[in-house]
Amino acid sequence: MKFGGTSVADPPAVRRIRGLIRDRLGKRPAIVVSALSGVTDALYRLCEMCMNGSEREITELVSSIRDRHMNMVHELISAPEYSLPAEEDVEKICGELELLSLSACHLGELSDRTKAKIISCGEYLSSRIIHRYLNAERIRTAFADARKMIITDDEILKGNPDMDAICSSVPATLREAGEDCDAVITQGFVSSDSHGHATVLGRGGSDYTASMIGMAINAEEIEIWTDVDGVHTSDPRKVKGTRSLSHISFEEAAEMAHFGAKVLHPSTIEPAIRKNIPIKVLNSMKPEASGTTILQDSYAISSGAKSISCKENIIVINIFSTKMINTFGFLNKVFEIFGKYHVPVDLISTSEANVSITLENNGKLDEIVRELSGFAEIRVENDKAQISVIGKEVTNIKGMFRKIFGSLLDYKIYMISQGASGINISFVIDRNKLHEIMNILHKELFENEGSN
Ligand code: ASP
Repeated sequence: MKFGGTSVADPPAVRRIRGLIRDRLGKRPAIVVSALSGVTDALYRLCEMCMNGSEREITELVSSIRDRHMNMVHELISAPEYSLPAEEDVEKICGELELLSLSACHLGELSDRTKAKIISCGEYLSSRIIHRYLNAERIRTAFADARKMIITDDEILKGNPDMDAICSSVPATLREAGEDCDAVITQGFVSSDSHGHATVLGRGGSDYTASMIGMAINAEEIEIWTDVDGVHTSDPRKVKGTRSLSHISFEEAAEMAHFGAKVLHPSTIEPAIRKNIPIKVLNSMKPEASGTTILQDSYAISSGAKSISCKENIIVINIFSTKMINTFGFLNKVFEIFGKYHVPVDLISTSEANVSITLENNGKLDEIVRELSGFAEIRVENDKAQISVIGKEVTNIKGMFRKIFGSLLDYKIYMISQGASGINISFVIDRNKLHEIMNILHKELFENEGSN
């Protein structure tokens, strides 16, 4: 069971998840928690302050983080045998946090390792408090440190998991933590390299932690508890009238996450696929809603458009070959450069002497353009967005292209691409038309439909 930041945001939210955990005690759940909502953002701000802020600002921010967690302890736990150790936990973690950030500020240097330690504190705080709280509520819960079992390479701020190491250390660590307990709680997002030094999985990585733990213990299912009732036909914050999907395939979910849907971390699906473990996306504020089950493709998964996702901040780079090199050599050089800067390319359309590529702006654009300009003419188009219509066999369904693009005749479409998987039709538009187009398309594809 993984609980995201909004599911543990405040005392009422934590009381709600106690009920959910209690209902599943027969299954000895492994519980993964995120930091309280907003805390990881605050910790990233703290890292900024280490470089550009003052000691006073750092101390103030740490004390507001300490206060929020202390209040949580006081509101949740009344018995001193549980509240006192919880207060000590908060004091200790916040003390370390202050020490780390003040030292970095003094030195004027924040290493990735120190940053990883700072941004991990949110998960250590939430997991320690919830651990004490559950025990105070007579749910015998053991505490496990994710750094002992989620092992990554040395990419410190976005570690790549070593699945073999994880498969062997998770069961041992959970067993060691609590042989005779009803549940074990650990942190999402937090990891370590093979020498035990702190790393993290990258923003939103707690989902990924949960599915890796699920994989390693051959869980019956992986429950991701969040603040929406499952995966929707589109982002409800942008589109009116979205509805929750009852079943989608692993491939559809992976494609949705990759192409901008915000419900799951994009890597979450992979560990579940390895062991064929269903993932349920559920709403902790509305636990009676059935949510979405993500599972292996089968007859239970219907064909057709399931969702519209988008990426809001896209750049299109048009690259025209100027030198007389063959197409293969030209494409090779282009991709070499994107590889060198670790910039993932989203959509690609090629002709003999021209490649158009979309990417999310991550600040490396100038260097890339400079290198490409060595052998090609470059035209960059800013302020674009990318929309993807995703669903099983969506590219093969007769009339699908007409349905999508027929409804958008009044708009400029820059690039169209259909994924090789057959489950994705993507295209690029002007960013200022994004919401309009998403709503038109959603109406066109999903209005008057029954439930999926
Ligand atoms: N707390 C981390 C974040 O906000 C990880 C997570 O919640 O998944 O990115």
